[in-house]
Amino acid sequence: MGWFPSGVWNPTPYHFKPPSESLVPVIGLWLGMPSKGRETMASSFPQHLLDGYRAFTSQRLPTEQSRYRELSERGQSPAVMVIGCCDSRVSPEVIFDAGPGELFVVRNVANLVPVYQPDGGAHGVSAALEYAVNVLRIKHIVVLGHAQCGGIRAFIDKIDPLSPGDFIGRWMAMFIKPGEVVEQRDRETMQDFVVRIEKAAIFRSLENLMTFPFVRSRVESGDMQLHGAYFGVAEGSLFVLDKATKEFQSVREIPAA
Ligand SMILES: [Zn+2]
Repeated sequence: MGWFPSGVWNPTPYHFKPPSESLVPVIGLWLGMPSKGRETMASSFPQHLLDGYRAFTSQRLPTEQSRYRELSERGQSPAVMVIGCCDSRVSPEVIFDAGPGELFVVRNVANLVPVYQPDGGAHGVSAALEYAVNVLRIKHIVVLGHAQCGGIRAFIDKIDPLSPGDFIGRWMAMFIKPGEVVEQRDRETMQDFVVRIEKAAIFRSLENLMTFPFVRSRVESGDMQLHGAYFGVAEGSLFVLDKATKEFQSVREIPAA
């Protein structure tokens, strides 16, 4: 018994052509997972998420209902794309106090952007970037790094592969170019080393963004700007990259508009 109601896949089992035949048995396994006793999908759904949604509908939704309706009718037109980390402590919508429709967000391990690679492969970040730039015509891309990043720490510690596929290892490998060495400097504390590499990941993503022709052309024409930011989890502090000095400046030192 599957989870999809009958008719979802009609008139043929699939509306799309799976990119690989190997996907089919995997989907079949997922649909065929046995349920435990009388447990249903709804009854096993995390209670705190249901409670959270009910709080949303009673508190936030009433004040934002008209905005949601407008977004539904007109579609989204965010001016800002944020490329952040999956880390549960670093939510762009929370940090920037953003409402619905304001931020187009992509999150991945260590907020990395790959280089432009039109090789026919499936590239999630690149697809989102293409949509944001070429369809939504966004004005700003913010790469948001953060303190205590597990992805960066795994990269620094050169942890053993967590799986035969070593997805994290292969993902983080894009962080360095051939010949580059990432090592702790003389008299540099481990803390400073980690922060330096967390910030280097932001620089690398900004650098890689410019390898996309559609990004580069819009940046060079002045139609779009790239930005770097770094979030300090413990204090909730935010630092933004000063393009002139290549230093991160605390937002607390920037006068409010
Ligand atoms: Zn992270």
